Amino acid sequence: MPLRIDSFATQMMRWYRASARDLPWRQTNDPYKIWISEVMLQQTTVNAVIPHYLRWIKQFPNIKSVASSSAQTVLKSWQGLGYYSRARNIHATAKIITKNFDGIFPNLKEHVRLLPGFGPYTTGAVLSIAFDQREPIIDANVRRVVMRQLKVLGKALPIHDPKILEFLLKVMPKKNNRIFNQSLMELGALVCRSKNPSCLICPVKKSCLAYKHGVQDIIPQPKEIIIKNISAAIAIIRHKNKYLLQKRPAKGLFADLWEFPGGKIETGETAEQALLREVHEEIKIAVIIEKQLPSVIQFYTQFKAHLSVWLCRPREMPAKRRDLKWLTLTALKEYPMSSGSAKIVDLLTKLSFK
Ligand code: SF4
Repeated sequence: MPLRIDSFATQMMRWYRASARDLPWRQTNDPYKIWISEVMLQQTTVNAVIPHYLRWIKQFPNIKSVASSSAQTVLKSWQGLGYYSRARNIHATAKIITKNFDGIFPNLKEHVRLLPGFGPYTTGAVLSIAFDQREPIIDANVRRVVMRQLKVLGKALPIHDPKILEFLLKVMPKKNNRIFNQSLMELGALVCRSKNPSCLICPVKKSCLAYKHGVQDIIPQPKEIIIKNISAAIAIIRHKNKYLLQKRPAKGLFADLWEFPGGKIETGETAEQALLREVHEEIKIAVIIEKQLPSVIQFYTQFKAHLSVWLCRPREMPAKRRDLKWLTLTALKEYPMSSGSAKIVDLLTKLSFK
């Protein structure tokens, strides 16, 4: 059946107005708030984002408040969302907008796309949702919906984006693009889900070639996800009710975050051997292992970390370094950490460590 362009956008927007979830960032056209929500949503589910978003907006009500905060404060507020480069980009962008645009979010594409962290998706999302500009956007939900509409076979990869973009530019309305773009993303989230799409209640089933040919369940073809298991030994080095915390390097995994010393258990090593080796390599001290604490398991996107946690005391004090701090349990909670380290802090609290 040939696609009736007018009716596609009309049906989608009608459905969205009747069925969209009432999410906190949908109650505003403020580009700052829309930008923050879009960045948070890039790697995190809606339900997980809501409390983070509400806390963030309370702490940083506008762009200038982000720009005037320290990197450590911004990273700490991002804790729990992962992919900390997003927080670093938000901080850098807030500083640029404050300096060059007096804290007012620019509405010209040539300005927006040069901001740190603004790829085609984020640029299009902010310009369309906040400023109602006619910018198509492709996220995982939109890619899936359009691949099914057009019966594009294969995995959901950016290789299909030129075709998807061509489709979007054809069906986008002249105005209300903020509603249209969100309607596609919402349809992908609620109806055209990756597994078991609810085609019978879909507002655009008449134009859907995958539905017509009964192949919606195999489009897109699922990606194989390989989750690696990593085992690490973690040293809780305590001295006079203070704990040794170490800052990670400025580049690489968990850049600039703080953590307890330790590292990967290599093949053939016991957890204790790995711990003594890692502490010696990283901090140049020897420690005495006092006892093992309950282990912690943390899932990250590409790996599952099994953390073997040990209470230790130092045989000698480490040299003074900017990346090492002795902190009370209360004080170290103010430092930005990966989710695994934050879980260890919760464990120490639960075990009534002071
Ligand atoms: S008919 Fe089914 S497969 Fe097609 S867009 Fe709607 S929900 Fe997705």
